[in-house]
Amino acid sequence: MEAWFFENQTGNFGIKIRIESILFHEFSDFQEITIYDTLEFGKVLVLDKAVMFAEKNEFVYHEMLGLVPLFSHEKPERILIIGGGDGGVVRECLKNPFVRQIDLVEIDKKVIDVSKEFFPEIACGLDDKRVRILAEDGIEFVKRVNAGGIESQKYDVILVDSTDPVGPAEGLFRRDFYEAAAGSLNGRGIFAAQTESPFFNGSLIKDVGKIIEDIYPKRSLYCASIPVYPSGLWSFTTGSKKYDAEIINGSYKDFDFLQLEADSKYYSREIHPASFILPNFIKEIMK
Ligand code: SAM
Repeated sequence: MEAWFFENQTGNFGIKIRIESILFHEFSDFQEITIYDTLEFGKVLVLDKAVMFAEKNEFVYHEMLGLVPLFSHEKPERILIIGGGDGGVVRECLKNPFVRQIDLVEIDKKVIDVSKEFFPEIACGLDDKRVRILAEDGIEFVKRVNAGGIESQKYDVILVDSTDPVGPAEGLFRRDFYEAAAGSLNGRGIFAAQTESPFFNGSLIKDVGKIIEDIYPKRSLYCASIPVYPSGLWSFTTGSKKYDAEIINGSYKDFDFLQLEADSKYYSREIHPASFILPNFIKEIMK
């Protein structure tokens, strides 16, 4: 008997993934957590019935959210990741030679625990001595760092690896969060967040882009194709106080990109700038 997981992505459109078995299912204090073993994509993490990633193609999202902002920054030593409890973006950030400290602020510790158990190849960076894990709300966290106003506690890069703008993640798409995050960055800081699908979430991308433009001298958007996400095309919005996100910083001129590219299945020196080249309909959204 065939069994399928159906993700209703827009109310009028969705995807079906044929499942072999259900490996884990539990309600945490924040969300429903399910792990399916699927025939097409291997193990898949689903939170509140939305696919977070699939084993077979998680590298696209994690490499693009982790590597693009960091390699456009001259010296990204202190990184804040909000969400990202699976550890995928942490794994990617650790590939950068300057990284000294990564603070991972994930509201749901259960996501970290199940990722370590079922996705060790994604969560592998969580045990790195440079990584500090804080199980709390990223919104409150940046408001505290911002209010503290202590320059040495601020970050070079802030990455928002959140669920969709519902539930605990809703506030991660609002102006007060973006302003507090900007105040948690130091003077050369870069901010990047996953900002959903250009095909289905154009108005969200536009609204977020306007807020980011108000806050940062430089705002840009880049895309990557992710088969299990709604529409298969995904966006990332950046705000930068100093560097151009679309350019690999000159501080990496002697860096061994050949090794990085050998360890990465999607990111490369060509993909980095190319991912900012956008089709007209996305340029329209950004106007
Ligand atoms: N890395 C995955 C991907 O490829 O898209 C998905 C992202 S990760 C699983 C999303 C995480 O954001 C979830 O673990 C969720 O608990 C976390 N999250 C949602 N709202 C949050 C908040 N306000 N503060 C911190 N973490 C939050």
